[in-house]
Amino acid sequence: MSDKKRVLITGAAGFLGSHLCDRFIKEGFEVIGMDNLITGNLKNIEHLFANEFFTFYHHDVSNYVHVSGELDYVLHFASPASPIDYLKIPIQTLKVGSLGIHNLLGLAKDKKARLLIASTSEVYGDPHVHPQDESYWGNVNPVGPRGVYDEAKRFQEAITMAYHTFHGLETRIVRIFNTYGPRMRLNDGRVLPAFIGQALRGEDLTVFGDGSQTRSFCYVDDLVEGIYRLLFSDYTGPVNIGNPDEITIKEFAEEIIKLTGTKQKVIYKDLPKDDPTQRQPNISLAKKILSWEPKISRSEGLKITYDYFKSLSQEELYKKEHNVFDKYIKK
Ligand code: UDP
Repeated sequence: MSDKKRVLITGAAGFLGSHLCDRFIKEGFEVIGMDNLITGNLKNIEHLFANEFFTFYHHDVSNYVHVSGELDYVLHFASPASPIDYLKIPIQTLKVGSLGIHNLLGLAKDKKARLLIASTSEVYGDPHVHPQDESYWGNVNPVGPRGVYDEAKRFQEAITMAYHTFHGLETRIVRIFNTYGPRMRLNDGRVLPAFIGQALRGEDLTVFGDGSQTRSFCYVDDLVEGIYRLLFSDYTGPVNIGNPDEITIKEFAEEIIKLTGTKQKVIYKDLPKDDPTQRQPNISLAKKILSWEPKISRSEGLKITYDYFKSLSQEELYKKEHNVFDKYIKK
């Protein structure tokens, strides 16, 4: 057995999970990746398979989780994470944020490991406070379409905090705001892959509502750096990690048109129910306790991300959805 620290990363084949696997391998950890591959894709981690310090388990963490040997850290990043995903697979979304975290908390307690959970700006719902700081309790509709995700993540924070206070488990909570970069799924319905995919296929860009709603986009490497610093900090309360550079969705569509040089135009579609009107992280806390702030501008990050999507094959560009995913959709 090596003397490397061992970290379990759930959702390892997903967008964020796979970038975290890369980072922890680079930092000299032994990484155990776990994913049920409903929304994850092995292509995101296949470059790690030859690495002797990387192991992958195809497993759904909503079922009992067993890992042999010692564990130092657990990072829970398994969850569907786009509005389209949780509309299609609402029960799995609720289960991974409740049964899944319960299993992982039990595992972390048994192994005396430190556990970090991926929470989200969605805990603030459609916020009445702007920008959102960690002391805001949120405005969530529990029975709306986003409720399955938002409430699972809120429960996840609550149970994680309970294990911390009751069992003395070492825990960390990151609230992740909109993040983008290579390995996002082209057809998960998120705005950035939607717009870039449309531009690459020569389709019009679909803006929902009048496009006046805002988001603030963080490049994935900045996010990973924030998470890495949080894991090794002493802070146990929730911490926002995101890029405060706020933009309306209409302006964002125009930026993508400019970036891709597409001749297509913007078309308007209905705004989905409970779509938050504004979202921008207040990152004062992260700046103070982690000395962290994003470094990569949107123009820089978008260029790298566009190059990634351009490198996909025609088959991937036109593929409607991940195969494994389809069998979970109610006909
Ligand atoms: N959106 C859009 N066109 C699309 C996809 C999304 O205008 O083709 C809008 C969506 O209504 C929301 C914003 O872009 O206001 C961000 O959506 P996304 O699904 O990326 O994430 P959210 O921040 O809503 O969870």
